[in-house]
Amino acid sequence: MIRYWGKIRKVRCKPEVMNPEHELMIIGCGPAAITAAIYAARKRIDVQMVSEDIGGQVATTFGIENYPGFRYITGPELVEKLVEQMNQLDIEQQIGEKITKLSRVDGSYVAVTGSGKEFSAQSALIATGAYPRELGVPGEEKYRGKGVSYCATCDAPLFADATVAVVGGGNSALSAAFELSRIARKVYLISRRQWRADEAPLIEGVKASTNIEPIIGYVVEQIAGEEVVKGVTVKPREGNGGRRSLTVDGIFVEIGLQPNTSFAEGLVAINDFGEIIVDCDTFTGVPGLFAAGDVTNVKDKQIVIAAGQGALAAMGVFEYLLKRR
Ligand SMILES: Cc1cc2nc3c(=O)[nH]c(=O)nc-3n(C[C@H](O)[C@H](O)[C@H](O)COP(=O)(O)OP(=O)(O)OC[C@H]3O[C@@H](n4cnc5c(N)ncnc54)[C@H](O)[C@@H]3O)c2cc1C
Repeated sequence: MIRYWGKIRKVRCKPEVMNPEHELMIIGCGPAAITAAIYAARKRIDVQMVSEDIGGQVATTFGIENYPGFRYITGPELVEKLVEQMNQLDIEQQIGEKITKLSRVDGSYVAVTGSGKEFSAQSALIATGAYPRELGVPGEEKYRGKGVSYCATCDAPLFADATVAVVGGGNSALSAAFELSRIARKVYLISRRQWRADEAPLIEGVKASTNIEPIIGYVVEQIAGEEVVKGVTVKPREGNGGRRSLTVDGIFVEIGLQPNTSFAEGLVAINDFGEIIVDCDTFTGVPGLFAAGDVTNVKDKQIVIAAGQGALAAMGVFEYLLKRR
């Protein structure tokens, strides 16, 4: 049994058959994994889902305005709907299990969990997502979702005519600053060093924006507010002097995502950002191994994109299993 939003519910797992070989093991239970599970189960693929939690990043998202079909929905509400649909189907779920090692043994996939359990399947889908890197400064946790955001694509429209800060100096930070400059009144772009981003169109676009003020060579010291964010204090990366207190309504932390891939190191190709490299069909290049969602090198990280990749992966698995017969 697991605790799920305060309720107790039974995990649909027969204890006596903890370890038969399934046709597909889906690792994760975010939008990519759930969509893949729905598609796979409807194709009568024998699916086992193994995940640390239910819902992934969506479960911690305050409000969503860009998932088609819902003008506005909270993250937990969307997770509830996804899970409700998944639970109509015959999908064995092992929730609360963190996979620490995934290997390919004699053409099958064997996963070992932190609690010492072992699961195996003929094919596997890695849908373990990513987590946004945090600043680790006072106020960040307190104002998460109350002005502190990790996703400009998701939250920029909430800051129309406001003053915001973007933290970071890479492509995602400059892209966020540019996007926000078209919505907000003023954008501070805070980076610890010179930008490392594409000259065109990003650096050129940011330089051409009259309402972006670059603050280069500074780090965030603290985020302050009352009910919601009211300001941010920055200090020079080196030395003690020259602190600045900026009055802002929001802070976008754009210092990168950390994909959850450590358990698959050595099994699958991973790029410099730690993302699993897949082709446009979500195939990893290792027979029977697919990856979908934020854990992959897909260019943008969004719920609808993760779900779409999950669907593609399930179809790829179906073809793989057909050929394997
Ligand atoms: C604060 C915030 C707000 C966002 N707002 C929006 C928005 O408004 N709109 C939008 O489209 N997108 C938004 N996003 C992005 C969106 O949440 C992600 O793109 C999406 O959740 C990715 O789905 P996923 O299934 O790939 O991964 P995730 O949602 O990250 O799910 C990964 C799953 O894998 C499991 N897992 C991880 N490692 C292991 C392991 N070793 N063993 C077993 N299980 C494991 C996790 O427990 C989880 O269940 C937001 C993200 C954040 C952080």
